[in-house]
Amino acid sequence: MLGGVSLTIHQGEALGLVGESGCGKSMTALAILGLLPRGAQIRSGSSIQLQGKELVGASEQALCKVRGGAVGLIFQEPGACLDPVMRVGRQIGEALQLHRGLRGAAQQAVLRDLLVEVGLHDIDRVARAYPHELSGGMQQRAMIAMALAGEPVLLIADEPTTALDARIASQILDLLDRLRRERGLALLLISHDLAVIGGRCDRVLVMYAGRAVESAPAAQVFDAARHPYTAALIAASPGLAGVAPKSPLRDIPGQLPAPGGGGDGCAFAERCTLARPSCGHRVPAWTPVAAEHAVRCLQFEEGWSC
Ligand code: SF4
Repeated sequence: MLGGVSLTIHQGEALGLVGESGCGKSMTALAILGLLPRGAQIRSGSSIQLQGKELVGASEQALCKVRGGAVGLIFQEPGACLDPVMRVGRQIGEALQLHRGLRGAAQQAVLRDLLVEVGLHDIDRVARAYPHELSGGMQQRAMIAMALAGEPVLLIADEPTTALDARIASQILDLLDRLRRERGLALLLISHDLAVIGGRCDRVLVMYAGRAVESAPAAQVFDAARHPYTAALIAASPGLAGVAPKSPLRDIPGQLPAPGGGGDGCAFAERCTLARPSCGHRVPAWTPVAAEHAVRCLQFEEGWSC
């Protein structure tokens, strides 16, 4: 179950959505696009607005236009997302036809521009290739070109570098950063890895067990995390050079409960070094602690003095 997740992304802004695998990050992205799995339902109080238009309750036809159109999607396994039996150029061409009505020479011209824009070389060969003939990094660039085919205003990148080696991953993140700046895109960058988010996002939303637990400008999260889970994530993250505290890496003991878990209390209570008895009896409320900085933790809600 997801609950208490509220996020806003402005044009040209990058929001990092972070948390351990299974905390509800991808489900949040799917909910934005009306792609919740069979059996999942929106119970109450949900509103998802894109450029002022409400998506909750929109027709499937309207949502199909949004997916791959105004909202571009990039997933972690480009090889699994691209059609294995269709040439890459044709797949992107179909997206250009579907979302922009482009055919023939006009379609080919925009296709070539997109392949160049995402940093691919030898674009005629790439366009003629089947996905398995491209490296993982080239496949991800092709996926990004396809996401751009619909002229999106929002890009959702769900663990876009997990399947790539470190050097290619860094290149893909640089590419997303450049596209955001040059096109004025809003970017929702989803990752279990704070090092991926660090330095590339304006704001960070941390999720735990299906709930948002901390939201703040990125610098505040890395320099002055307030929620014990965020602090634990930072302490457990290798590769946060320049943003992590200079202390040894520490694992987070215990297990992440399923989204909506935690019973009547704070879902992090069993793993939290600051937990008090009251933490097991009440779900903390979303509590502002500074400008644009809020957390879901009783120590701030109840004003504990440590
Ligand atoms: S509410 Fe209690 S258990 Fe939960 S994060 Fe805060 S201090 Fe830890």
